[in-house]
Amino acid sequence: MKVTEHIAQAEQCLFSFEILPPLKGQDINAIYHTVENLLEFNPPFIDVTYHREEYQYVEKAGGLLEKRVVRKRPGTLGICAALQSKYDIDMVPHVLCGGFTKEDTENFLIDLDFLGINNVVALRGDAVPTEVYFKPEKQGHSYASELVAQINGLNKGHYLDEELKHSHTTDFCIGVGGYPEKHMEAPSLEKDIAFLKQKVEAGADYIITQMFFDNQKYFEFVKRCREEGINCPIIPGLKPISTIKQLSLLPHRFHVDLPQDLIQAVEACSSNAQVKEVGVEWCIAQSQELIEAGVPVLHYYTMSRSENIHKIAKAIF
Ligand code: FAD
Repeated sequence: MKVTEHIAQAEQCLFSFEILPPLKGQDINAIYHTVENLLEFNPPFIDVTYHREEYQYVEKAGGLLEKRVVRKRPGTLGICAALQSKYDIDMVPHVLCGGFTKEDTENFLIDLDFLGINNVVALRGDAVPTEVYFKPEKQGHSYASELVAQINGLNKGHYLDEELKHSHTTDFCIGVGGYPEKHMEAPSLEKDIAFLKQKVEAGADYIITQMFFDNQKYFEFVKRCREEGINCPIIPGLKPISTIKQLSLLPHRFHVDLPQDLIQAVEACSSNAQVKEVGVEWCIAQSQELIEAGVPVLHYYTMSRSENIHKIAKAIF
């Protein structure tokens, strides 16, 4: 079933979460463990992130540098296929512009369709770590809105080869990313919301937000989206803070602010075990307030570790 159908049929707020493929060299059992630990909360869908290639420079004799292309977390497609068939839960692979030509994208979508996976989240992806700005592939997409348009086109039977006649129409439900605190590259929140609207007009069915720690930011974002005529579901994404280091790491990596009360509570901790407790309590309070405000789904970023998410879900669902 599609994410939007799950939302339409739900009588109460749904629980869902995001997992990462394991690092190359590990097996899938840790993923099964994470999912099984959270099954009791009946997730109707689970997201799996996509991780594009990175470049590494290895020093060779004579000081020469050799550029190597590595993919640290392959396996998005395999994990989705394995979990959907093992647990009969709808899987939502993330699909990126970065590293994909339009043809790669089409072929990836055909694989998903054949596997019975008809939910995706369409994203641009970040710049590779060795580059400052995002660079699309020569025959690829520059923005997520273009990727959404391609997926939506396939839903109408439009393949890249225009000569194909009577082609199969796919039926993808398309999610896109939204940023309550603005995407780091956008000149203003207003402009970012205008681009978000382009994604919805290109065919996106729902929005899933970047993590935030202050619900007012989400409420204000939703209000502004509605004022701009974005009427689809906006699913809040939540992450419990779990280490002292994340006080600086999360703002750096995700461009989000942390509320002063949360910072003080974390700074008062003498161990990461205590920080985890603070993070769980904060996330429970955020979740409760969001449910009271009538959000359709609470979507948790697990980083593939489920203990803290289990504690939060136990208190909420
Ligand atoms: P876009 O919507 O394309 O926006 C990118 C930037 O361009 C924004 O600043 C926007 O304002 C601007 N923009 C948009 N359209 C235009 C235009 N026409 N002209 C000029 N500017 C424009 N990354 C991964 O690598 N793998 C994942 O699995 C992954 N999952 C994610 C899940 C969620 C819910 C979210 C919120 C993010 C995720 N990301 C993931 C990170 C994401 O790839 C980055 O945040 C990326 O930098 C932006 O992706 P986007 O789809 O929001 O881009």
